[in-house]
Amino acid sequence: MIPRLMQTLLLPRKIHPWRMAAECGSLKGRLALAALPRLMVILGHVDGEVAATLSAGHDAQGIRFIQGSLLAEVEWTCQRCLGPLRLPLDIEVKLGLARDEAAASRLPGEYEPLLVPEGGSIAVADLIEDELLLALPQIPRHEDLRECVAHGYHQPGEPALDLKNRQPFAVLATMLQDFQRSH
Ligand SMILES: [Zn+2]
Repeated sequence: MIPRLMQTLLLPRKIHPWRMAAECGSLKGRLALAALPRLMVILGHVDGEVAATLSAGHDAQGIRFIQGSLLAEVEWTCQRCLGPLRLPLDIEVKLGLARDEAAASRLPGEYEPLLVPEGGSIAVADLIEDELLLALPQIPRHEDLRECVAHGYHQPGEPALDLKNRQPFAVLATMLQDFQRSH
């Protein structure tokens, strides 16, 4: 759940990542999920908020970074029982700043590249939305099969987790992969 304290803090619309790293800046606040259109396309609806805690700086190798966490809870549809699925997202963010593709390729593997020209700014909502999209499971479903059964799932004789013959799921997974790759 989102701590009550954060509910009073709004995130800035834009940040300048290089400046933020140089100043070892940080930000903390919340953003309505409704402000994230790509997430809305996938989930169909977006209620709730994401709470972000991010700080910037540079590591011992001189790499500028933005790191922190994103907490949200999204509502989706379970692809096994088609019942509602509440999905808590607890995302660890570790972005390494890169001026261009070449610099991005030199970042150590622990960093996810954030391509931004020096002096450039990025929209905080875009950054957060990218991370949320990457964190969504390819095939959303209740972890506990009993929850699916409670929502009417009934498929005697078939192993519950065997998705090989369930083509709609494979199509959805491919769509999501393509979507995430193209953003
Ligand atoms: Zn289910």
